[in-house]
Amino acid sequence: MSNLNYSGLIPHHVLSSPPPYPHYMARIPRQQLIAYEELDSATDLSAAEQATWQAARDATAHAYAPYSGFHVGAALLLADGTIFRGTNQENAAYPSGLCAERTALFGLAANQPHHAPIVAMAVAARPSDGDFGPAFPCGACRQVMLEYEVRQGQVIPLLLPSRAGTILRFSSLAALMPFNFSPDDLPAS
Ligand SMILES: [Zn+2]
Repeated sequence: MSNLNYSGLIPHHVLSSPPPYPHYMARIPRQQLIAYEELDSATDLSAAEQATWQAARDATAHAYAPYSGFHVGAALLLADGTIFRGTNQENAAYPSGLCAERTALFGLAANQPHHAPIVAMAVAARPSDGDFGPAFPCGACRQVMLEYEVRQGQVIPLLLPSRAGTILRFSSLAALMPFNFSPDDLPAS
């Protein structure tokens, strides 16, 4: 029997009887939903979001992407109104390169260790000679993004360009990383 097909597995008389019924309940599928908004264009964003969105796009001009030709920019809006940028930095030894999201976050923390809270983040991507397209953070970046949100104890809304050309707005970086590994999962030292 497939582990994914549960339809009809649980008799109605079992579900309607009082708990516990661990044998059956353990096999009930559960879902983790990701909440986000989808906006048609940047004009639907607030002025601060628009500035962050544009900063991420502008940053792609400074990507170092001679191998992939995929220019990525990331922008962090701080509570004091300043915007910090990151770009992907590739390397001839491919795994030594780093994504724009992480150069932005690491660069901010390294250069401004007492920075104001991050209140928005945006990512943009385009090929060397093409238009802007979708830009979804890789798994490693999502893990790092989550850490910075946990670290500052304040959610960071995120703007991402979708494959459909719309803008996806997430209210928290954690939304992109369900069942994540966070500092809370480490034993107390
Ligand atoms: Zn990444």
